[in-house]
Amino acid sequence: MPALFVGHGSPMNTLESNRYTLAWRALGASMPVPRAVLSISAHWYIGATAVTAMARPRVIHDFSGFPPELFAFDYPAPGSPAVAAEVAAVAAPAGVMLDTESWGIDHGTWSVLAHLFPRADVPVVQLSIDASKEPREHVELGRRLAPLRDEGVLILASGNVVHNLHRIDWHQPDGGFDWARRFDAAASACMTSDPAGAAALCRHADYAMAAPTPEHFLPLLYLAGLADAAGRAVDPVLEGFTYGSLSMTAYGLDLPGPAPIDGGPAPIDGGPVHDGQSTSGA
Ligand code: ZN
Repeated sequence: MPALFVGHGSPMNTLESNRYTLAWRALGASMPVPRAVLSISAHWYIGATAVTAMARPRVIHDFSGFPPELFAFDYPAPGSPAVAAEVAAVAAPAGVMLDTESWGIDHGTWSVLAHLFPRADVPVVQLSIDASKEPREHVELGRRLAPLRDEGVLILASGNVVHNLHRIDWHQPDGGFDWARRFDAAASACMTSDPAGAAALCRHADYAMAAPTPEHFLPLLYLAGLADAAGRAVDPVLEGFTYGSLSMTAYGLDLPGPAPIDGGPAPIDGGPVHDGQSTSGA
C-alpha cells in the first residue's frame, strides 16, 4: 500500500472544492482500496503513543469559530480493533496504548479522508503523536509501522510542513513568506533524497518560524521513517502555500501512478461539495 503525508490546512477544506482537495480526490481514486487507514494526525498530540481501538470511533470537531456546516459534518467510517492491535504489535517494543474511549477521528484525519475516500467505507484507526518523543524517535516509530503496508493498510500522515498560525496573512491567500518557502524547500530536498535524515530539519534555521509548535510538522517524520524502511525517497504530490504561513505540501511513497498534481495557482471554488454520505449528518 502507498503511504502519504498530506498538508491538511484549514478545516474548511473538508467542505471546499479547490486545487488541494481535488488533488486529494484524484489521489484517492488512483489508489487500490485499502483494508484500513492508519492516520497519524497532528491534532492528537498527547503524552503517549495511542491508537484508537473502538469499533465505531466518534467524529471529533476539534476546533472553534467555523460555520455550523462544518460542525455538522460526519465521517461515519468504522474503526478496527483488529488493525489497532496490529499497530501496537508492529510498534513493539515502543508502547502503543489501545484507546477505547478517550479520542476518535479528529479533523486532521477526516478533512483529508472526506476527499480521499468520500464514501467513508474504509475502516480508520488514528495514531496519536507522543509529545515527549525526540524527532528521531518519531522517525524510528514510522519505520516500525512499515509492515502494516504489506497488510493492506494505507498510512496517512496528516499535518502541515509549515504551520504558523500567529503569522497568518489574509492578504496572501495563495502566497508564502520567504522563511516558509525556505523551510518547505529544505524539507522537500530532504524527503526526496535522504528521508532518513528528516529529523535534522528540526535544527534548520527556519524551523522555529515554520513550526513554532511541532505537532503539524511531526507527522512528516513518520513518512520519513516509512520511506527509510522501504529504501526509497518520497515523491512530491502537491505543493503550495496558503495565507503566507501554511504550506500545503503533500508527499507520496509508492503511489500507483503519476502524481495528480495540477500545479494550478488558486482555489477553483470556495463552495461546499455535496457528496452524499460524506456530508451526511447535517
Ligand atoms: Zn491542523
